[in-house]
Amino acid sequence: MFRLEDYVFHRDLTKTYPIITHGKGVYLYEENGKRYLDGCSGAVAANLGHGDKRIAEAMALQAEKAAFVHTMRFETDVLHKLAEKIGKLAPKQLNKVYFTCGGSEANESAIKLSRQYFRDRGEPEKQIVIGRWQSYHGNTIGSLSAGGDIKRRQPYNGYLLPFQHVSAPHCLHCPFNREESDCESKRDWSCVRELERIILEIGPGQISAFIAEPITGSQAGAMPPPKSYFREVRALCDKYDLLLIIDEVMTGFGRTGTCFAIEHDDVMPDIITFGKGVSGGYSPLGGMIVHDKIIDGIRENSNGKFLHGYTYSGHPVTIAAGVAAMDIYEQENILDNVKKLEGHLSSGLYKLKHKYPIVYDIRGRGLFFGMELASNQDGKPFASDLRISERLNELAMELGAVFYPGSGTVDGYAGDHLIIAPPLIITQGEIDELISLLNHALQALMDSMKEGS
Ligand code: PMP
Repeated sequence: MFRLEDYVFHRDLTKTYPIITHGKGVYLYEENGKRYLDGCSGAVAANLGHGDKRIAEAMALQAEKAAFVHTMRFETDVLHKLAEKIGKLAPKQLNKVYFTCGGSEANESAIKLSRQYFRDRGEPEKQIVIGRWQSYHGNTIGSLSAGGDIKRRQPYNGYLLPFQHVSAPHCLHCPFNREESDCESKRDWSCVRELERIILEIGPGQISAFIAEPITGSQAGAMPPPKSYFREVRALCDKYDLLLIIDEVMTGFGRTGTCFAIEHDDVMPDIITFGKGVSGGYSPLGGMIVHDKIIDGIRENSNGKFLHGYTYSGHPVTIAAGVAAMDIYEQENILDNVKKLEGHLSSGLYKLKHKYPIVYDIRGRGLFFGMELASNQDGKPFASDLRISERLNELAMELGAVFYPGSGTVDGYAGDHLIIAPPLIITQGEIDELISLLNHALQALMDSMKEGS
């Protein structure tokens, strides 16, 4: 049934969505008073929870002072403040911060910048980006071209850029049928070898960058990479002169227990892209943090100009939200809270895995976990038309909790998962409530499956 009774172009015109009137902490409230525990920070964005007056006031104050100045003519004090805060948090050689209004624009900018870097060096042919299957970098044409979400790409295939993709290091579903321990002990990764093979097939002289999420988010359900994967990738990027773009849109700013998730891998990216958590979701904000060598190239060879930019790049109100969010991350030791509660959340989730045979795997880091659902203990995926992860989330929402469901977990088509990523301000008691609600939702799902059989 299509809803014709309102003017909103809904994401799915066949659905109705609850109207949220306000939020407080980890909770969202519907107009009829129903409460939802936000178990996924919206889209892993509302890291600081809802209804924080400090961020709202900072935005209002900035809107009163100067709501819009164009960064081609003017700058603001908040712009410098936020860039400095982020630059200081980033790895040592990444010092310049470029702002956008979200993650897709951030990756779009990074893709263009990788081309400019090589054009500045007199190698304009280096312009292909290699991404990974089952990864997501955004929905604009460039970022969609870099991403490897088969279902999202498919309707726009004719529009997409001729970028290339390799297998992601999702060892649980290794397309090469290898064991993680085998690859690790032999220091011989089939997925890394595939990357090298593709680089050589295209020719390193045609490639500008390799882009990857440090922990695969929406496409694989918070799947961390095996231990030495990114070191091997970095070595290949160095060998063949490719920039390494690390997409921290979902994982940045403490989500995984370090400021950036790539810190777990001890690898230096050339560009980090960010979004979501940078403003705690209070305003549309994203950007990229850029290595000094790229900046030096622009200075020396392009008269300091990066021919790119958006009307709302560095928008003062959205930037003010970022500054206020950064202050809260720091003052409230959000990273400590993530580290303190990681074990509590994971042990709660493992208990559910032991209780319910349909929970096939739990993985993740910090307060960023994935629960993979399967029809048997060998991990056989459910038929996609059963919409298992969507159904589990619908049941959770009936009970008063919301999570981030996804599908295509195994190979881009089959498989189901739920991302569990509550606001980083969550308390131990609220995690207990989250686990209890998820427990009831899983029970309801099992019951509905029995009834259906
Ligand atoms: N990269 C990653 C890893 C993401 O998770 C997302 C959003 N889910 C994006 C990029 C795109 O960000 P946005 O929706 O803000 O454009």
